[in-house]
Amino acid sequence: MFLPGLRTFSGKTCSSIDSAERSAEYYRRINAGLFGAAFLHIFVLTLECNLSCLYCEAEYSGGGSTKMTRETASRDVDIALQSPEENLSFEFQGGEPLLNFGTLKFIVEYSSSRRDGRNIRYSLVTNAQAMTDEILGWLSDHDVNICFSLDGPEYIHDRNRPSKNGESNFANVLRWRERALKVYGVRRKKITALPTITRNTLPYSRELVDFYSGLGNEYISLRPLSPFGKAGVNRENIGYSPEEFTDFYAKCMDYIISLNLSGSSSLKESFSEMLLQKICGRYTVNYTDLRSPCGAVTGQLAYNWDGKIYTCDEGRMMANAGIKNFCAGNVFDDSYKSVVLSDAACNVCNASCIESNPSCSHCVFSPICGLCPVYSFRTQGDYAGVPVTQERCRILRGIYMYIVDRLLSGSDEERGLLSRWGGC
Ligand code: SF4
Ligand code: SF4
Ligand code: SF4
Repeated sequence: MFLPGLRTFSGKTCSSIDSAERSAEYYRRINAGLFGAAFLHIFVLTLECNLSCLYCEAEYSGGGSTKMTRETASRDVDIALQSPEENLSFEFQGGEPLLNFGTLKFIVEYSSSRRDGRNIRYSLVTNAQAMTDEILGWLSDHDVNICFSLDGPEYIHDRNRPSKNGESNFANVLRWRERALKVYGVRRKKITALPTITRNTLPYSRELVDFYSGLGNEYISLRPLSPFGKAGVNRENIGYSPEEFTDFYAKCMDYIISLNLSGSSSLKESFSEMLLQKICGRYTVNYTDLRSPCGAVTGQLAYNWDGKIYTCDEGRMMANAGIKNFCAGNVFDDSYKSVVLSDAACNVCNASCIESNPSCSHCVFSPICGLCPVYSFRTQGDYAGVPVTQERCRILRGIYMYIVDRLLSGSDEERGLLSRWGGC
């Protein structure tokens, strides 16, 4: 395992390499998830939506209303507040969460009145289609972070994310993002955007980076498609091989690095920054998908609109497709403790210990990597699966190799930039 201190990537030598205490501190920091509980609580307010994105993971065929009621929401919050974590993050998801804005408001107000001195960070992921000035003003007054789903320039975004009423969603997102930046003023960092990468995006690596850089965003996040929902069904049309994705990722990163070195942009890629922070080990990184065991239940819980509690957001997506193995309880019968001790929680915990998976135990990347039992179950029908044969692993390895190659063989300037991203 790489330990910081032998030599940093900017060429300096750390004085404390021989300190076992420092090494233990490093190990503790990169495995910080082991010492905490569920900090991320995802509220699925409704499965209804006003868009028909080609990769939607929230598709539902059950019929009838899927709006979370206030009664269910109050039980969700009661359970979330049983987590022993001091700093909690409440995230509103869907469907389109603004289609159940009344319950969103209720959760913020109800949890604020019961948080008992603990910090709660509220975040909304939205397509902006149902945004109004009144809603935006309320979100700002209550300090809710807003992440707009934005796939890049109009010719990519509207292709990936057609609206049900034929309007351009791109125009709506840009308009409301601009408005939100004004309303939030000095708190503008609370307004972010997130693209999803489809086959439609692959020819436009530079255009995507230029677009995000031009928005003045601090970050872009290059996320591959998941195998859930429509993303799996439409794979022939919008999917790609792991190698096609990592090639796209490398082109974007090469360009982002060159823009940073020329001083024309300070855009960062968030996944790479997180990996670099894990490698350098100076910061605590608590990304639930790259932990061992992963952060399902022990780092996050997802509360579905109908009162069921899932190990994580992807676990509830599996339930939409009829696979219930990741249901850890329901808010009317269970407590935080019974959810943590549920069969679903134990199964994901056992299956995601990377050190005990024969595929990964000898992989050089295992200290910074993580396994996903939901992905394994979806693609290989087993909680543990054989990760090394999965497309997820091929994508992760491609990204790790890119980062390591840049750190070891890049120019001094490139290594210096990445070292700063990682805090080395
Ligand atoms: S991805 Fe989100 S915005 Fe798009 S259709 Fe699905 S729920 Fe709606
Ligand atoms: S890169 Fe692949 S083989 Fe290596 S630890 Fe991660 S999942 Fe396992
Ligand atoms: S099961 Fe997979 S998606 Fe869920 S928290 Fe673990 S790594 Fe993440």
